This record gives sequence, C-alpha cells and structure tokens, in this order.
Amino acid sequence: MHTITLIPGDGIGPSIADSTRKIIEATGVGVSWELEEAGIPAIEKFKDPLPQQVLDSIARNKIALKGPLTTPIGTGFRSVNVALRKEFDLYINLRPAKSFVGVKSTYADVDLIVFRENIEEFYSGIEHYIDAQKSAAETIGVVTRTGSERIVRAAFEYARKHNRKKVTIVHKANILKFTSGLFLDVGKKVAQDYPDIQCNDRIIDNMAMQLVLNPHQFDIIVTTNLFGDILSDLCSGLVGGLGLAPGANIGYEAAIFEAVHGSAPDIAGKNIANPCAMVLAGAMMLDYLGELVASSKIRQAIAETIQEGKYLTRDLNPEQPVGTIEMTDAIIKKIIAM
Ligand code: NAD
Repeated sequence: MHTITLIPGDGIGPSIADSTRKIIEATGVGVSWELEEAGIPAIEKFKDPLPQQVLDSIARNKIALKGPLTTPIGTGFRSVNVALRKEFDLYINLRPAKSFVGVKSTYADVDLIVFRENIEEFYSGIEHYIDAQKSAAETIGVVTRTGSERIVRAAFEYARKHNRKKVTIVHKANILKFTSGLFLDVGKKVAQDYPDIQCNDRIIDNMAMQLVLNPHQFDIIVTTNLFGDILSDLCSGLVGGLGLAPGANIGYEAAIFEAVHGSAPDIAGKNIANPCAMVLAGAMMLDYLGELVASSKIRQAIAETIQEGKYLTRDLNPEQPVGTIEMTDAIIKKIIAM
C-alpha cells in the first residue's frame, strides 16, 4: 500500500485529478490518498496558498500527485508550484513528449525527453522594482555549478539507464555569457563522463526552430529553467498538445508528479479537459514507485483509447468529442479488461 499526497488543484485540476485517481485505482495498485488543498482553494479555506499541512503531508509520504494550480499574473501570491519545487529541492523536471498513434499532429514517432533544471535561474524569485515609482524592475537569474551539474548528470544517467542515444544541451551562452555559459561549460564537462552517449549543444532560438522543423534529430534535451519550461510546451505541441504531456519533479528525498499544463481556466468546469496528461503523470509516479505492471496498463489503455478514436475529448477529436468523464470511463474499461 502506497500513501500518496493528492493535491487536486484548481481550474480543471479537480476533474482530471478525479480521473487520475479512479484510473490508478482501476489497476488494482494499493493506494491510500491524503487529500490536500493548495493554491486558490487553500486561500479560500485557510488564507494561505501553501498551508503547513500540505508540506507536512509531502514530507511524510515523500510522494505527491498534483493537479494544476493557478498563479496570478503580475500581482498576487507567488507560484505555489515553484515554492513546492524549492521546498523539497525537486531539481529535476522530467517532461517526456511521445507521439500516440491516432493523434493528428505534424509528426509521427516523436520521442523526446526534456530535463529542465527546476530550481534556479529566473525562477529563483529574486526580483524587485528598482524604485517606489516602479519605473524599472529586475530579476536575478542565479545559475550554480552544483545546480547545473546535477541536472545534466541526471539527464545522462537517464540516457544510460533507458538506452537513449543523445543528449542536447540547450543554452544562450553567446549572449548570457556567464549564466548560460556556466551551464554549457559544466554540461560539456559532465558529458565527458559518458562517452557512450552522444552530446551536442544548441542555442535556444535555433533549438526552437530545429525542433519544429525536424524533432527526430533530438532525443534527450537538458536545459535551464525558463528555456526548459518553454521548450517542453513546444515539445508537447509536437505530439498533440498539452492534454498529453506529463511531468515529474524529482529530488533526492521526494517527488511530485503533475501535468505540464496549467489550470486551463478557459475550459474549467465544462467536462471537456483531456485527463490524459495528469493520468500519464500518474503512470510516471507508478514507475517511480516500482509499480511497472500498473503503469504499463495505464499507458496501453490510453494508447488504445486514442487509437480507437471513439472516446476522445475535444482537443483530440473536435468533430465528435466526449467529456472528461466519458474518456476516463473508456480508459478504465480497458484496464479492467486487461
Ligand atoms: P494552460 O496550460 O492552463 O492552458 C493553455 C491552453 O491549453 C488553454 O487553451 C487550455 O484550455 C489548454 N489546455 C490545457 N490543459 C488542457 C487539457 N488537459 N485538455 C485540453 N486543453 C487543455 O496555460 P495558461 O492558460 O497559460 O495558464 C493557466 C494557469 O495555470 C496560470 O495561472 C498558470 O500560472 C498556471 N500553470 C500552472 C502550472 C502547474 O500547476 N504546474 C503549469 C502551467 C501553468
């Protein structure tokens, strides 16, 4: 029996978290969920976007499954997502983007993994207006050797373990000579410890274009926080959009699994969100827990449901869509029949 902290989140979060929970339970894996509120629902209940009891629950269980949390733009409270990653030193943000047969997209057979440094640089929260008139503002992006080394090493270790061939280091060292330069320098040094894995590097702007032109030339991508955030959304667009893009935040002591996408306020409460990104994050969580039979059942059931094309949400089948609940039920039926 695994005890897991479950944070449903807000927006489409509660609905896709419900789907994820039901689908995981359908695999027969033993889970005891500790339900916790964070973000806007926690402000409403506890007047705190990140109550201590949430931190205590994750610290105790060392594992959490999280729905998306809205972060107010420009003003308001700081990102709870970023705070959680920092609190538990979840320095790896692992975001795979893999094609599914049956999804209409520009490319078939895309299989990319983004390793995004998850704590430092422009997400370190060191920012302020320079004067009371707010005439200018600055954000300080801190990149450390230790932080760079551990994320690049994580990418190479993953490549070795999963028999992947190539790691591409993405940077902007031509302009950000110190921060991005340090990342590239450390990355190249780490690569020397892995002669069995090819390594190259790309400047971020060129990388964005190359990914759109020919994603098959890439395998594993490792980069700093902001570039990784942007590129992973781009990669999800290459395989059918955010509805199919899961992610994991992993540290030495704890891990939090979530979809790449956000709370999608434009479609919240309408039973139209695709649950698969969070469900696939749940499958990554089961991998992490060693529940490989359960995780492969989930992936197979999703792949078959997509390939059949009968029970798909609007993002995957705009002509004849079904709702979140109906797609969830179709996936569950397949799992039970396995
Ligand atoms: P978003 O990812 O929520 O939505 C972008 C677009 O993708 C929208 O059109 C949305 O309808 C669509 N979309 C997203 N998930 C979908 C799904 N499962 N099925 C179908 N369509 C889906 O990005 P946004 O609108 O820029 O951000 C909304 C809020 O989410 C913001 O407050 C942002 O800070 C937050 N956010 C949170 C996380 C997180 O919790 N880790 C990540 C990203 C954004």
